Amino acid sequence: MKDETKIVTAGRDPEGNHGIVNPPVYHASTVLYPTLADFDAIRAKRQTGERGIFYGRWGTPTTFSLEDLVCAVEGGHRCMVYPSGLAAISGALMSFLNAGDHVLVVDTVYGPTRRFCDQVATRFNIETTYYDPLIGAGIAELMRDNTRVVFVEAPGSQTFEMQDIPAIAEVAHEGGATVMMDNTWASPLYFKPFEHGVDVAIQAGTKYIVGHSDVMIGTATATREAWPALEATSRMLGQTAGPDDVYLAQRGMRTLSVRLKQHWRNGLKVAEWLLTRPEVECVMHPALPDDPGHALWKRDFLGASGLFGITLKPCPRSAVAALVDGLELFGMGASWGGYESLVLVTSPNGSRSVRPWPHEGQTVRFHIGLEDPDDLIADLAAGLDRLRAAG
Ligand SMILES: *Cc1c(COP(=O)(O)O)cnc(C)c1O
Repeated sequence: MKDETKIVTAGRDPEGNHGIVNPPVYHASTVLYPTLADFDAIRAKRQTGERGIFYGRWGTPTTFSLEDLVCAVEGGHRCMVYPSGLAAISGALMSFLNAGDHVLVVDTVYGPTRRFCDQVATRFNIETTYYDPLIGAGIAELMRDNTRVVFVEAPGSQTFEMQDIPAIAEVAHEGGATVMMDNTWASPLYFKPFEHGVDVAIQAGTKYIVGHSDVMIGTATATREAWPALEATSRMLGQTAGPDDVYLAQRGMRTLSVRLKQHWRNGLKVAEWLLTRPEVECVMHPALPDDPGHALWKRDFLGASGLFGITLKPCPRSAVAALVDGLELFGMGASWGGYESLVLVTSPNGSRSVRPWPHEGQTVRFHIGLEDPDDLIADLAAGLDRLRAAG
């Protein structure tokens, strides 16, 4: 089955639900057992790692529908739902790291992942080394006997560097480490982590899976080998997502394939236009043919989402304000992946230790939504005119 079909059919059971197309929203903490024999049978199931309805925290058919849907499209053995993307990241890291372990994390990782490593993992005597996103197989030099996890994210946060994930995964596996990936940019559709050596793939479902800027949720999907460790600790951490949010995430994902195609097309059109503007020093978008990461993107990815960045030629902060404050169609805010366009002034050097961002000019991140791209371009053209007038 192709992805477009899986996204429509997986995680649904109309025949089991009175013919109703979508899964029901179960609000549950207590689950009743009619007899002691039922109670014992359910507990036995739990011990063998089988999925069952034991108690709200272990999930309900609502949770299972989203888990099955993400797993069907992203690949892997089983998927686990968390109340946010960051909860999935911290839960996955805690599942595989012990006191005294070492973790390799890409220097261009999502900022809060880095803060988790620096401020929380350190308290458990877990040491993090950040590595160059362009390192590839050279990561072998950073592997230690106690390196348990190699964390990848491509393209990189804010600056969109691509990583050679299969090369990194091969080295990591030779050293006995688990490869974890933040796969949010590509979504489960445009990068297939388990075909490229990843063991645990994480989604900030908040972004494209939900797709409507109204729910926080996360997922971690694992291979058969990695699943028991992921599940055991994640359950102990007690992080559950609310049933209405889980429902909205599975509902959002039903239309991911058509939304993402449009985000890709619109984003590329706006990125290509930005390349022509004299105020712009460079555009960071791996689907552009001249992007340094283009060859890797073409080799490994199946598409591009609507998130990319630019670096402006050096200009005063007040000129950047003139650009962004007057935009009509771009809201200024964190997050992305919804149907609407967003702009965010970023500062990559605030959180880099290995590969400093070499440009002096201000970086700006765009999420290109589902508006008509010509309207977005007209809005940005007026904004860049304001920037020039103010600079
Ligand atoms: C937003 C984001 C996260 C965190 O997701 P939340 O749901 O906001 O916790 C993780 N990784 C990436 C790449 C993100 O953009």
